[in-house]
Amino acid sequence: MADVQAPVLGEYQVIPHIQPDAMAGSKPYVAKPDHNKPLGFPGELVENWEQKAVAKLGELVNNSRALQVFLDSCVKCGACTDKCHYYLGTSDPKNMPVARQDLLRSVYRRYYTLPGKLFPSLVGARDMTKEVLDEWYSYFHQCSQCRRCSVFCPYGIDTAEISMAAREIMDSVGQGQKYCNEILAKVHRIGNNLGLPGPALEDTLLGLEEDVKEETGIDVKYPVDVKGADVLLVTPSADFFAEPHIDGLIGYGKVFHAAGISWTLSSHASEAGNFGMFVGSSENLHKVAKRIREAALDLGVKRIVVGECGHAWRVAYSFWNTLIGPFDFLDRRYPVPQHICEFTYDLIQQGALKFDKSANDDKVVTFHDSCNVARASRMGSMPGGQFIIPRAVVKASVNKFVDMAPETIFESTYCCGGGGGVLTDELIDLRVKGTQPRMLALRDVVESHGVTHVAAICAICKAQFSKVLPYYKFPMDMIQSVHGLVSKAIQLGPVNQ
Ligand code: SF4
Ligand code: SF4
Repeated sequence: MADVQAPVLGEYQVIPHIQPDAMAGSKPYVAKPDHNKPLGFPGELVENWEQKAVAKLGELVNNSRALQVFLDSCVKCGACTDKCHYYLGTSDPKNMPVARQDLLRSVYRRYYTLPGKLFPSLVGARDMTKEVLDEWYSYFHQCSQCRRCSVFCPYGIDTAEISMAAREIMDSVGQGQKYCNEILAKVHRIGNNLGLPGPALEDTLLGLEEDVKEETGIDVKYPVDVKGADVLLVTPSADFFAEPHIDGLIGYGKVFHAAGISWTLSSHASEAGNFGMFVGSSENLHKVAKRIREAALDLGVKRIVVGECGHAWRVAYSFWNTLIGPFDFLDRRYPVPQHICEFTYDLIQQGALKFDKSANDDKVVTFHDSCNVARASRMGSMPGGQFIIPRAVVKASVNKFVDMAPETIFESTYCCGGGGGVLTDELIDLRVKGTQPRMLALRDVVESHGVTHVAAICAICKAQFSKVLPYYKFPMDMIQSVHGLVSKAIQLGPVNQ
């Protein structure tokens, strides 16, 4: 573990005394130029970057009425100030959502409003300078774009959109973040965030088949690039890599097997995640998503199902239709996209799956709502939506389930602290501090109900929890995939046996 001090978990969530600039030094590594592998960003500050940054801001505001409204309409009521987990965990007042917005708003005012042009100091307008850019770089990478603040804002101002715009401007003038941009480059070159080539993917899946055969005695297949399969499953590449993610992938395969539905993964679209969203790049968003349409057409599938990933589901649910639709080549009896929890839940409702919940009797489970699902794509494609359905799948798999405090779940869920492109080692201090509100709620159900495990449907949440739980004296393997729980309890024989 890195030498980082986790905040003390008090009796309940308190609003911290402010510590100005406490996190001013927190910054991700800057992406370097990469001329051989074009990523869509220059990699160093371009000539006349100040004017170009201002012009890019103008372009974004012109293209997005929502962004303009968000920048124009804040009345400084203060309702959002204590709603950000990064402010609660770090005490830095620039992590108050309204203060974060003002970093961009002050420049917008200076160049795009009359009072800002005439009387800048009276209206808090600022010139675009290197000092401002550095502040942007630091604090727009201390926003996980979780949108919790927008739930409490009477005007619905969405700081995540402002943060995405700021990152897009920074990328365009050469101040791009290394972590997200390198991941995007891997997807363009190889097909997934981990840079896992096709043969390595096949090896992993063969290994899974052997493991499941050893565990159950049954030949469960984990197929890749099978033409004519009914379902294309696109899932975050983390699912091919390590626990707890891979337990989820094992569970997906068992569900398909138990239901007798043919399915396949794709080596071309071996990534459901889409980091184009984190850097606010519509071009990258489109290029990454396009691989999924191409794979679906090439394989001739009837349906597309999305694995456990928060932002992947948001991109699929909210943007696929515009980015890569129409899906008139798929079987329109099924929703596009469909989430793996919806897929499993639907089969449970039909009585097509059988579970032995006692297989999970060593666990008392709670559920962490992932931000991109809870606040950006929660309705889903089935009645019940993404608050009820994942919980129903968990409850079908375990006997002992308890929710965390109401003010920390559903649309009020606290971010895991690692979303929105900050899941990188150099930001571990931010990540540990930012998860403090979630850890506090978790600690309460551990103490009151003996909770032993927390389930999530987001690859980033799972990776972040694995890393930060030990800082709060919880075991690393406390975090589970929802379909990891399914995997333990599902019965693979015929349902009527
Ligand atoms: S979107 Fe989330 S991380 Fe960003 S300011 Fe709002 S609450 Fe904080
Ligand atoms: S809650 Fe909304 S209007 Fe109030 S200060 Fe925050 S962003 Fe501004």
